[in-house]
Amino acid sequence: MEEEKEHKRADKKGRVPFWRSVRARYALTYILVVASILLVLNTYPLVMAENMVFNAKQENLKRQALVMGAALAVSENLSTESVEQTMALLEKVQVTRILVTDRNARILYDTSTIEDRRSDVALMGEVVKALDGYDVTRAEYRQGAFRSRAAVPVVYRGEILGSVYLYEYDADQAEILHTIQSNLRSISIIIGFIALLLVLLFTKALTASTARLLGAIRRVREGEYSHRAEVRGSDEIAQLADEFNQLTGRLQVTEEARRRFVSDASHELKTPLACIRLLTDSILQNPDVDIETAREFVADIGSEADRLTRISEHLLALTRLDAGGTRKQEYVELNQVAERAVHMLEPLAEASDVTLRAYLEPACAVLAGADDLYQVAFNLIENAIKYNVPAGSVDVTVCPRGDQIALIVLDTGVGIPDEDIGRVFDRFYRVDKARSRERGGTGLGLSIARDTARLHGGDITVEHGKNGVGSRFTAVFPALPKEDESV
Ligand code: ADP
Repeated sequence: MEEEKEHKRADKKGRVPFWRSVRARYALTYILVVASILLVLNTYPLVMAENMVFNAKQENLKRQALVMGAALAVSENLSTESVEQTMALLEKVQVTRILVTDRNARILYDTSTIEDRRSDVALMGEVVKALDGYDVTRAEYRQGAFRSRAAVPVVYRGEILGSVYLYEYDADQAEILHTIQSNLRSISIIIGFIALLLVLLFTKALTASTARLLGAIRRVREGEYSHRAEVRGSDEIAQLADEFNQLTGRLQVTEEARRRFVSDASHELKTPLACIRLLTDSILQNPDVDIETAREFVADIGSEADRLTRISEHLLALTRLDAGGTRKQEYVELNQVAERAVHMLEPLAEASDVTLRAYLEPACAVLAGADDLYQVAFNLIENAIKYNVPAGSVDVTVCPRGDQIALIVLDTGVGIPDEDIGRVFDRFYRVDKARSRERGGTGLGLSIARDTARLHGGDITVEHGKNGVGSRFTAVFPALPKEDESV
């Protein structure tokens, strides 16, 4: 299902189609932002400039029309002659057309040069409105020119005598505006191109590092745990690559440990099986084997089978510990647990000619699994006896140590050489293989003990014994505070 999903996302080589890629999304976003900015730059100032020109022109024309209207309002009637006389007196104004009508919109004066005027009556909407008593202005931009109009009534003693209509055609200012507009457009196109180029370069660099990281992730996923992502810089992607590399490093260590464990475990299992095979072959291939020898061989087969059982039990215990999960926790007196383990191991100590002494302080309570604690104590004390020398001794102490309870197992045994002391907790690690095997060891006991202690918030450490003789194993567990002892 997941695989299918992934296939939908990427092609066989793991490439994402461009339109679905981060690069396309980034590029599109940037392009949209740049385009919007350019669009605003291309429209807003021009619209503003156009409005300003419109307003200025309308105001100007209206003012001039008002001046003319005022100048014409001198008698009760407007005639062609009176208008022409007044106009002649007025300063020359720079407008394209001046048109004066009487109250019936009949044209009295017109500077227009258009010959074929169709009528003597001015039918423009502005004139009609002005004759109704309104001051009218209108401006528009059409066909590369500003066209502005203003019309005002000529009022004499409250009576409308006619209207003045001014029209201005301005192509020069429109041209300037047009030039600005086309310049802005060219600049925008250049900026647009540069932005596009930069966006493509930037997104390429960005996606190149993500692609490298993705490639590295795939290689690691396919089992190449030694591969590392190479991303330069210190941005988020570089940090991501760094985190990924660290994660892969840990994965590599875990994977190596797992492989080593599997190979060690199969080796350990193979050895007793090979012994059993050898022993059975010896019996089967030798028809004259006497009953005593056969018994001896069968007894050996039995002890090899015991060994196999022990190894499988230890392996199972480790698997359970590796799986983690919750362990039963209860109020346990570590001194009592240690006492039980010492008691159980007394016969072994006696048989090995080792003196076993216990110094157990009362009320050393911890919150842990009683069986787990027993296993830890048993393993440490058993090892101290197993790896001891004749007439040697083992001292087991349980006492509080700060906010912890310590179980100290000190022996006067063979000791652990400096080069091995750091490795005795490793799985299947044995200082003296032959001795361990001979004593029924699996090389897993200490590893299980330490994992178990850690599961209960404790730990186990090892050092050389008193005056460098033998070893001292110390297991510590968090002490249960007095008020919690009711748990
Ligand atoms: P084993 O089943 O071989 O005893 P352990 O994990 O219990 O495995 O111990 C690992 C190795 O550490 C042993 O093989 C032994 O060489 C060494 N060792 C453990 N305890 C002692 C000790 N008290 N004194 C000397 N060597 C020890």
